[in-house]
Amino acid sequence: MFAQTVFDIQSLASGGLITTYACTSRCGHCLYASSPERDSAYMDGEVARRACSRIKSLHCNTIHIGGGEPMLNPRSLATILEIAVFEGLRVDYVETNCAWFRDMRSACAVLKELRDSGLQTLLVSISPFHNEDTPLKKSAESCAPAKQPAYLFFHGCLISTMISKNLIRLSHTALENSGSTSALIT
Ligand code: SF4
Repeated sequence: MFAQTVFDIQSLASGGLITTYACTSRCGHCLYASSPERDSAYMDGEVARRACSRIKSLHCNTIHIGGGEPMLNPRSLATILEIAVFEGLRVDYVETNCAWFRDMRSACAVLKELRDSGLQTLLVSISPFHNEDTPLKKSAESCAPAKQPAYLFFHGCLISTMISKNLIRLSHTALENSGSTSALIT
């Protein structure tokens, strides 16, 4: 018999929102066991508002938004971005596996709407696990809209990758595509 422990969080350095547990990928290392088989439910506006308010009450002013794959529902993601901004939170980044990328035209249209809602930075996840479902070339190409004049708001493109020569090379390609000046390689 285990004693029940109740966590009472007094302060928060940085918050995060899990918008959905569904994902186009099923990475072996996924913390949330996300996959296409998970329920497709997406965080609604009221839950997002209460979560953002709670984060603010813990003296925290920044969050990131992830999943699952938050770009599965761009319209709902836009709503959550707007709520976070309204509540006075800075959204450090939205994390994505980039499976949604089809071509430059459609990517720019989606990203423009998200920019207007408060998106400033995408964190593109790249690893051998992600590569099983999302080709690395696609992840690299998806950074291209960031260098278009209308999308200079992508001031950083953070690359999460496991160290291997091939991945480092593709990460650099992604950075060149984005015109970004900073990268985080973990
Ligand atoms: S892309 Fe991210 S959320 Fe989706 S299965 Fe992989 S690690 Fe999990």
